[in-house]
Amino acid sequence: MLTGDPPGERHWQLAAHDDRCNICHRPLRGARFYYEDADEAPAPRRGWTLCGDCSDAVAAQLGGLAAGAPLRLRVALGVVAAERALPEAERVAVGRSSERRFNTALIATVWAAFIVHAAAFVAIVVVIAHHH
Ligand SMILES: [Zn+2]
Repeated sequence: MLTGDPPGERHWQLAAHDDRCNICHRPLRGARFYYEDADEAPAPRRGWTLCGDCSDAVAAQLGGLAAGAPLRLRVALGVVAAERALPEAERVAVGRSSERRFNTALIATVWAAFIVHAAAFVAIVVVIAHHH
């Protein structure tokens, strides 16, 4: 009965093949880190594949949040996603060039998406907090 890959392993394989960081969307080369919602988190639980840089930032955020909070991982991910530069902006910013020749409308749209996500994370936390 126990033939084939366990579902968890298959999930990991799919995530690994995605090959992009779920926060900064840079292609993952070499180290990648997989995060999963805590068991107490409300369904649907999900996982995130992160690059080393984003993983470090998330780990730092997790360190500042109360241990055992079911949504602390999502809060940390939301904060990091809101804080981190977009990959396009990051590439342009290499060398601290002040020139920004990328499409500002596109960047604004992507930033808006980030902010909406971050706001959603905060809203979830506020709702949960008010239930206590
Ligand atoms: Zn990343």
